[in-house]
Amino acid sequence: MLLDNVLEIKNLRKAFGEQLVLDNVSLSLKKGMIYGLLGANGAGKTTIIKAIFDLVKPQSGEIYLFNKKMPQSVEQYKKVGSIIETPVFYENMTVEENLLLHCDYMGEQFKNNIDKVLQDVGLFNEKEKRIDQLSLGMKQRLGLGRALLNEPELLILDEPINGLDPEGIIDFRKLILSINQTYGTTVLISSHILIEVFKIADMIGIVSKGKLIKEISKNRLEELEMDIEEYYLSL
Ligand code: ATP
Repeated sequence: MLLDNVLEIKNLRKAFGEQLVLDNVSLSLKKGMIYGLLGANGAGKTTIIKAIFDLVKPQSGEIYLFNKKMPQSVEQYKKVGSIIETPVFYENMTVEENLLLHCDYMGEQFKNNIDKVLQDVGLFNEKEKRIDQLSLGMKQRLGLGRALLNEPELLILDEPINGLDPEGIIDFRKLILSINQTYGTTVLISSHILIEVFKIADMIGIVSKGKLIKEISKNRLEELEMDIEEYYLSL
C-alpha cells in the first residue's frame, strides 16, 4: 500500500439478497487528487460510498482510510467531509445556526471556520438567512460548506449536483476545483453526469452494474473525449 493513499478499496463485494450490487470493486485515491465515480442510476456508486462510512456492510473486501483498515474511529471520520444524498438542514434556523450546531458535534474549535467556509462557498451574505429562504443551489453549496468546516483531508460527495440547473452545475464544479486547488483536499465525487466529473477529475472510474469497468486518468481524458462520451452512453 502506498503511504500517500488517502482511500483504498480492495475487492469490495456486496449483495442485497440475491442481487450482487458490488462485484469486486477496487480503487484508490492518492493525496490531492479528484476521483470521479461515474455510473448510471443503480450502478452501485452510493453503495461504495456508504461502505466507506460503514453504512452498508460488504460481504468481503477491504477499505483503508488514511492507511487504516475498517472499522474507523470517530477521529478518522472527522478527517472526512461528506455529502451523501441531499444535505438536510434545520429549515427554521439560519445558515449560521446550522453550522454552529454542526460544530457542537465536530468540535468547538471549528466555529472559527464558519465565516471562512461561507466565503469559500459564496454564502457569506446569506449567513443570517433561514434555510427555507435559500434556493436549492445555495443549499447544495451550504452542504459543501458544512462538509468543509472541519478542514477535511478528504471530501466525499455523492451526486452533489442532483437537481441543479446547468449554471448551478458549472458553479458547483468550479467550487470543488477551487477547494481542491486551494487546500489540497482529496475529492471523491460520484455522478451519473459525465460532464460534471469529466471537467475536473484527475481520474474517472466508470461503474456499471456493480463493477468498476474502466479507469481513465486525466492525461488520457482529453485525447479520449469522444471515446469516453460514446463509451459512457453505451453503458
Ligand atoms: P443512484 O445514482 O440511482 O443513486 P447508484 O449508482 O448510487 O445509483 P446504488 O444506490 O449504490 O446505486 O444502488 C445499487 C443497487 O443496489 C441498486 O439496484 C439498488 O436498488 C440496490 N440497493 C441499494 N441499497 C439497497 C438496499 N438497502 N437494499 C436492497 N437493495 C439496495
